[in-house]
Amino acid sequence: MTPTGAAQTGTTPAGSAHAGTTPAGSAHAGTTPAGSAQAGAAAVQGAGGGPGSYRIVAMETHDVRFPTSRELDGSDAMNPDPDYSAAYVVLRTDDGVEGHGFAFTIGRGNDVQTAAIAALEPYVLGRDAEDLGALYKEMVNDSQLRWLGPEKGVMHMAVSAVVNALWDLKAKRAGKPVWRLLSDMSPEEIVDLVDFRYLSDALTREQALEILRRAEPGKEERVRRLVAEGYPAYTTSPGWLGYDDEKLRRLCREAMDQGFGQIKLKVGADLRDDIRRFRTAREVCGPGFPIAIDANQRWDVDSAIAWVNELREFGPHWVEEPTSPDDVLGHAAIAKGISPVPVATGEHVQNRIVFKQLLQAGAISYLQLDSARVGGVNENIAILLLAARFGVPVCPHAGGVGLCELVQHLSMFDYVAVSGSMENRVIEYVDHLHEHFADPVVIVGGRYAAPAAPGFSARMRAESIAAHTYPGGSVWRDA
Ligand SMILES: [Mg+2]
Repeated sequence: MTPTGAAQTGTTPAGSAHAGTTPAGSAHAGTTPAGSAQAGAAAVQGAGGGPGSYRIVAMETHDVRFPTSRELDGSDAMNPDPDYSAAYVVLRTDDGVEGHGFAFTIGRGNDVQTAAIAALEPYVLGRDAEDLGALYKEMVNDSQLRWLGPEKGVMHMAVSAVVNALWDLKAKRAGKPVWRLLSDMSPEEIVDLVDFRYLSDALTREQALEILRRAEPGKEERVRRLVAEGYPAYTTSPGWLGYDDEKLRRLCREAMDQGFGQIKLKVGADLRDDIRRFRTAREVCGPGFPIAIDANQRWDVDSAIAWVNELREFGPHWVEEPTSPDDVLGHAAIAKGISPVPVATGEHVQNRIVFKQLLQAGAISYLQLDSARVGGVNENIAILLLAARFGVPVCPHAGGVGLCELVQHLSMFDYVAVSGSMENRVIEYVDHLHEHFADPVVIVGGRYAAPAAPGFSARMRAESIAAHTYPGGSVWRDA
């Protein structure tokens, strides 16, 4: 199950890029579009990436949609027909290095999301990606756009897309993958990225520094282990609600054969179906194998408790999104009502403040941050620190379009520099749409291999963007 160093090197796109931590030049050439890449890499080496040495000169947005509803991929109790989509942003600089980012949506509304990203253009034009603590706070606190949240929904996801694109740019210029760039920062530099406003009753700057300083010893050893062994993953691919029992059985078996240490089933549409499907999965996977269930916000508090208690004989590893992501007290009541079955949530939690309350209320046993919903890398660092403060393991949400690519960096940073642990932690994995990315995730023996290429693994292939642009791209035009 544990990949060997050799196996890992073999499955990573480029041997040289796998060094990962190698300086810009060679790795960069392999991961950026031809012409501009050469100029970009040369400029990075020459400029040293300092402030004032380059400027963002253009922001480009794309409404990209994949027709996943045609195969019922991604179907669950609340989202029966998702067309996985990305409101996609490219930041162009005057020296040719690009930053790529996106918000994930599931179809209709992706145009609204794209427009929200475009509204942030004035914040990045003429700027660089050197002080991302300041730029993130400026964008979040725009005196007019803030009314559209504050710090929630479409506008906040737009901030996330742009912040993540800036991190992609910054990491490319540094010649490092984002997880390594963050891990190499000092505790002081890391806390400067965080907005502690509204957190200080649970986490102060000093307490955050303490957490980070505690993790300082052993960092290099953890980097070595991460590069050698990867980070544990679980798969949701067997459990989509639209799949029949035969497909469920086959995909459960495949997940185990591939070395995944956990799977997840979608539940919440029909109790009798859930009992049958859970029994089927349990038969295939055997007793003791971790099987989580995910209701995608389907239930009210009382029905969540009743429904989960009907399934407890099959031993759910956790129950995910049992009710509204805004209902902190509801989650706490559910946690009490289904104990000892653990509650997990986070993919729709809108910001660090709601996460703070979930933790303060003892409502969750697993925290499922999402790389592209809250305010990007910066706010996710705050959330990782909160989770560490409360001793709750982070098992991120992924799947969708490119969410696996992004979120692996955050978990790996957490392991190296924040929690210092991979125990009881897994990153979600869904085997969809990775082929559209220039640096797709690499799964070896049920684990994420540490990304090696500089950046945030965020760049979608130009031909994929062109074909899936809505509504004019060939995939939609010819449907
Ligand atoms: Mg989920």
